[in-house]
Amino acid sequence: LKHFTADKITDNYPRQVTQAYSWATPKKTAAPKLIAITPELALGIGVNVDDNLALFTDVFSGNALLDGMQPYAMNYGGHQFGHWAGQLGDGRAINLGQIKTDSGLLTLQLKGAGPTPYSRTADGLAVLRSSVREFLCSEAMYHLGVPTTRALSLCLTGDKVMRDMFYNGNVKAEPGAVVCRVSKSFLRFGCFQLPATRGDVTLLKQLVDYSITQNFTHLGQPCKSAYLKWFQEISESTCQLIVHWMRVGFVHGVMNTDNLSIIGETIDYGPYGWIDNFDLHWTPNTTDAQGKRYCFGAQAEIGQWNLFQLANAIYPLIEDAEPLNEILNNYATLYQQSFGEMMASKLGFERYIKDKDDTLFLELEHLMSELTIDMTLFYRILATATPENSVDAIRFFHSCFYQPQELTQADKEHFIEWLASYFVRLALNESGHEQRKVKMNSVNPKYVLRNYLAQQAIEQAEQGDYTLLHTLQRVFLKPYEDQPEFEIYAAKRPKWAENKAGSSMLSCSS
Ligand code: AMP
Ligand code: MG
Ligand code: MG
Repeated sequence: LKHFTADKITDNYPRQVTQAYSWATPKKTAAPKLIAITPELALGIGVNVDDNLALFTDVFSGNALLDGMQPYAMNYGGHQFGHWAGQLGDGRAINLGQIKTDSGLLTLQLKGAGPTPYSRTADGLAVLRSSVREFLCSEAMYHLGVPTTRALSLCLTGDKVMRDMFYNGNVKAEPGAVVCRVSKSFLRFGCFQLPATRGDVTLLKQLVDYSITQNFTHLGQPCKSAYLKWFQEISESTCQLIVHWMRVGFVHGVMNTDNLSIIGETIDYGPYGWIDNFDLHWTPNTTDAQGKRYCFGAQAEIGQWNLFQLANAIYPLIEDAEPLNEILNNYATLYQQSFGEMMASKLGFERYIKDKDDTLFLELEHLMSELTIDMTLFYRILATATPENSVDAIRFFHSCFYQPQELTQADKEHFIEWLASYFVRLALNESGHEQRKVKMNSVNPKYVLRNYLAQQAIEQAEQGDYTLLHTLQRVFLKPYEDQPEFEIYAAKRPKWAENKAGSSMLSCSS
């Protein structure tokens, strides 16, 4: 690490920009302090933080640049909640540049480092609570095996940021923070939509070509067939990403086209949430509470809707709707098959037998929501169940019910019936109980970043105590393993963290 001294003069004032990006200088901060780091990522980019703490903190809070860094903000638009919103960002993300690593070229991006030309009327900043949520969740997702942008560091800025947390006119000063995100590409669907809506086919083509040379080199020279293949791969990776979300119980919460990654990673940890009691209609996004556009069970469909917008955007490069439509239709088929295989693996079946399994899945979804069952705990207990040890089924599964005392006789019977048909289906497996358990536990996490855990880590951090933040970082290094010392972090949502509707309390982002 060494300081880069030459000052870059850039204009960060808000405006409409016709190019794909603008130079943008991160804002200097009052008293930067590094409060969390992902050591594995730091090593990956060749940095020994202990030897360079002051400089590392300066660079990753936006106060210093290293030789070769020329920071810029990307230009994109997007459909927000189904409506075209024009130019949107990056209003609070600034790329420091790319770095060569053993795992390829990685882009380093500061989130919350001050205004850019795309900030519109906002400040370009991020508060500690949203930054803790981004930092913890992106790393948890990574270790859960879900494609995601990653988080290298979390710095306090020492500045105060004004926020109206509940949008009720109650503005208060909160600690500011900056997260350094890392990805092979920060291009979003909206990056391609913006030039397309402006009729700028030259820029659109430049961007698609750039994406191919950066992240899809196997597609060869840019041409119509490469563009189609590119779109097909984006469609497939988006589909597989959403299957992962459904597997672990993650609800993105704001699947606008500006928040969907061109390389199929989870991006933009805003108002996301995790499923406690299984509920396909649950959304963590309070602004979406009415429409439920972005609820848990709608994610696959919205993924396809977003891909449709991307197809529209790149149409001028292909000029033939048919193959684009075919890819969009294949998305649905691929999703159904992949979802089925994923569910079969969660239940410990050696293969997915559509005719037999689909009804079993549907009945289970129905049971889990009707009987308010904790999704994560259920699958871990199921992995240990055999016809012999679970004769008293309600007792065996007791800890995963949120309201065991409210179960009716009919509820109990439905549950017992389902379990009986599950064991009949399980008998088609060739291997035994122990192997099934190991396999199930490798796809059904023991630990997920439940909303109340993130909330507790935030409240501590706001008091200057980072113990829980660091503990959760450790817990999520091995989310599929039993970690006896961390058993409490696998517990279901406590009563205090429930809202009136009996779902998770709000942890909104900003
Ligand atoms: P989001 O719904 O989080 O994806 O936000 C939509 C867009 O609003 C982002 O792409 C940002 O460009 C912009 N934005 C969000 N928060 C801020 C902020 N505090 N300052 C400037 N721009 C912001
Ligand atoms: Mg966003
Ligand atoms: Mg956001």
